[in-house]
Amino acid sequence: MINPSDTKNPKKVNKDLRQDAKLLKILLENTDDAVLLLDRRGIISRVNDAFSLLTGYASREVKGRHVRRFWSDISAREQLPLINEALWDCGYWMGQIDLPLKRGGHGVFAVKVLAVLPDQGRVRLLVVQMARTELIAPLREAMVEADDSAWDHLTGLPTRALFQDRLRQAISQATRRHYAVGLISMDLDNFTLVNDSLGRERGDEALRVVAQRLAKCLRTSDSVARIGADEFALLLVDIDDVSAAVRNVGVVARKLYELLDEPITLGGTEIRLSAAMGITISPQDGQDPQQLMKNSATALSHAKRKGRNNYQFFSQEMTETARRRFAMENSLRYAVERDQLVLFYQPQVDLTSGQVVGAEALVRWNHPERGLVSPLEFIPVAEETGLILPIGEWVLRTACRQLAAWKAMGLPMIRVGVNLSALQFQRQDLVKIVESCLEETGIDPQYLDLEITESAIMEDVQKTVAVLNRISAMGVKLSIDDFGTGYSSLSQLRHFPFKTLKIDRSFVRSIEDNAGDAAIVSAIIAMAHSLDQTVIVEGLETDAQLSIMRRLQCNEMQGYLFSAPTPADVFTEMLRLGTSLPAKEKA
Ligand code: C2E
Ligand code: MG
Ligand code: MG
Repeated sequence: MINPSDTKNPKKVNKDLRQDAKLLKILLENTDDAVLLLDRRGIISRVNDAFSLLTGYASREVKGRHVRRFWSDISAREQLPLINEALWDCGYWMGQIDLPLKRGGHGVFAVKVLAVLPDQGRVRLLVVQMARTELIAPLREAMVEADDSAWDHLTGLPTRALFQDRLRQAISQATRRHYAVGLISMDLDNFTLVNDSLGRERGDEALRVVAQRLAKCLRTSDSVARIGADEFALLLVDIDDVSAAVRNVGVVARKLYELLDEPITLGGTEIRLSAAMGITISPQDGQDPQQLMKNSATALSHAKRKGRNNYQFFSQEMTETARRRFAMENSLRYAVERDQLVLFYQPQVDLTSGQVVGAEALVRWNHPERGLVSPLEFIPVAEETGLILPIGEWVLRTACRQLAAWKAMGLPMIRVGVNLSALQFQRQDLVKIVESCLEETGIDPQYLDLEITESAIMEDVQKTVAVLNRISAMGVKLSIDDFGTGYSSLSQLRHFPFKTLKIDRSFVRSIEDNAGDAAIVSAIIAMAHSLDQTVIVEGLETDAQLSIMRRLQCNEMQGYLFSAPTPADVFTEMLRLGTSLPAKEKA
């Protein structure tokens, strides 16, 4: 390249520069690869025609904008820091990026990024070169989309042909990224009645309204099509896995029912629609688009047979899971206000003295039809729906009130453990809630013990540490729950203000005949003691386990051997009687 500061012959330099610019233009426009020129901040200064052809974005739409806007897809965004790092390190990056296309969907591109550093090592320019890895696919798409039969004239939605093409693409992309895809086939209930009673024109109007409503309820990456007279299909992409798909698709299905149920006015007459829906999920129900469409049609006909307003997953098991989940979610919403939650207390016993020194508060749901429901069943649903926030607050308040009640009865004071979920750290002002519970009940903070699992801490370490430190400063105790089930090491956890470590019961189960487990437990105890932590072992069921844990210098136990979790009044009686375990024999 010419150096403009070389000004021996200004005329010649200018001419050479012009020629260079021309050459660059010719090069840019005659390559099949898309090329972007970026300044060092990542602002696009120029793109070639191939870029517009491959991505659908015209030059004027992208010039002057930051490249991040086009790499807005999650996987691409995650790559940006890595690309940056490589450019700093060696001025060059090469890899694959999934990018959104203007007409919808994604394209996989092989990308090279080169940093041009002409003066004093400062990046002047970034050259991005992108080649579509499946060049045949966009051509095919373009052909399919340009075809008149790809679009439904009445509603403006894609037809079955275009929908199947999108489904095929979505499946192949999901397979590559290990994602799931959801497909809903929908058939309006008794639509012939609308046509027969109000006339065909009004019927068409209703279909147009339905089409608009369906399109409105989807994310931009999803698709909806009209695949029959009164049949529609919806494609949901970018779903993490099959169980998330069951949830997401179920949520969309319910949203669809709500949308359809909104009245439509047709020439002065108000109608409400409903529909049957058949749902399939890939890869679970198949990875071939035609097979998937067929399976969703099968599910749809099952749903129709069940009467109006029904949905059915292709797999019976998923239908059951989804139904149970929604039923539970709905009734769980009212559990707190209808006073259906109860706390049980499980004693924690000092292994030397044999005395009860603490209790863990464990929530149960007293379901009007099902009786006591285990937290293992409803806490995960509460966590996914955010209902854990009011439930967690209720548990904390109730446990503090119980402590105050025991104090008022003149019973020996013990420590009470309350389980916390990660969401309570992230979405609530936990410090304020703890403060308000302590203030309301007047209990001494040292008797409150908050249990948190390793995995909950790791979800957002910085935020959690900040909250834990403030809670610990209030004098409230903190415990690591289920230790040994996560991936954190004790050395990582020593930065947290934990006073107690609870060894998960999976270690205890096999401790009698697995020397390896005994060695691990022994090491955990030694390390915890070196950090001045009390060790509680969970799930102790036998005398043999008890004597091993005593030999290993474990401090406390919690398990069926002494007592299962019990209702508050039973526990109160235990405290009153001073029920205890035989003390440890002196060695
Ligand atoms: P966790 O905190 O590890 O609680 C200990 C669980 O082990 C309790 O189950 C208890 O009944 C059980 N367990 C205790 N000793 C034994 C034993 O000797 N053998 C066996 N097989 N099991 C024993 P539970 O009450 O069903 O609670 C299960 C989990 O539900 C708890 O595990 C905790 O993670 C969660 N949970 C319970 N209450 C709450 C709550 O209020 N909030 C939150 N976020 N989670 C809760
Ligand atoms: Mg616990
Ligand atoms: Mg535990």
